[in-house]
Amino acid sequence: MTDLAGKHGLVVGVANKRSLSWAIAQAAGQAGARLAVTYQGERLEENVRKLADQLQSPLVLPCDVTDDAQIAAVFEAIDREFGGLDFVVHGAAFAPQGELLNPFVETSREGFRTALEVSAYSLIALARQARPLMERRGGGSIVTLTYLGSIRVLPNYNVMGVAKAALEAGVRYLASDLGPSNIRVNAISAGPVKTLAAAGIPGLSGFLQAYRERAPLRRGIDAAEVADTAMYLIGPAGRGMTGEVLFVDAGYHVMGV
Ligand code: NAD
Repeated sequence: MTDLAGKHGLVVGVANKRSLSWAIAQAAGQAGARLAVTYQGERLEENVRKLADQLQSPLVLPCDVTDDAQIAAVFEAIDREFGGLDFVVHGAAFAPQGELLNPFVETSREGFRTALEVSAYSLIALARQARPLMERRGGGSIVTLTYLGSIRVLPNYNVMGVAKAALEAGVRYLASDLGPSNIRVNAISAGPVKTLAAAGIPGLSGFLQAYRERAPLRRGIDAAEVADTAMYLIGPAGRGMTGEVLFVDAGYHVMGV
């Protein structure tokens, strides 16, 4: 098991107990890390506080990733409380529902801007703020979550696919910028899991069925499998990897049809 004793991490993207970011937070907490966990807006605060009660002395902070002041406040609190940072888990994504219902060609300028800002730009904003705190620790690891819709067309995934393509390109550019500071940046491309965000994608049950029928492992995946891979990327075992997209999808992405 990965040992994260004495390490400090930031986890962005917990909405409820099904969130992939929550599975990663739990695994990191069990591995001994102390965590800052953020919530998006008051609507989610109570949920996230209740979950965070299961962690050791967590920092629970508001963070809407479209708000630079909130992002800055998160890192000020981390600086004050932790004095440095070893890892960031980025699991924030959003596209307006209409963009997932209409044909992709109807994508609006506003919907495109929102999806790309929340789901891709936010990684850059967080990485920039994390950098000095990680440099103080001699390096760090940043992990984000992506989906196959970045490189293949999936029904209704639409502008989220474009946002994930931007996110994955961002991973590579950030890896190049931050590598000299021994900060690694990687993505996990997860198979579909029933979460709040996934429930917003029309036809999700069809996706899940396709994985059960056609993935090499003939099944879907669960959040704990994503969390195990995140522990690998955060911990010492992943020290030689950066700029990578690792698939945790029962092998689905290798299939032609
Ligand atoms: P989720 O709904 O639990 O998590 C999405 C999170 O994004 C929520 O916590 C939400 O609060 C946050 N978010 C949205 N807008 C935000 C904003 N403006 N500021 C801050 N946070 C904001 O769903 P999830 O499936 O756990 O999603 C986590 C990540 O995993 C996403 O990037 C998603 O695209 C990715 N992913 C999910 C699946 C899946 O099938 N569930 C598969 C591959 C990748």
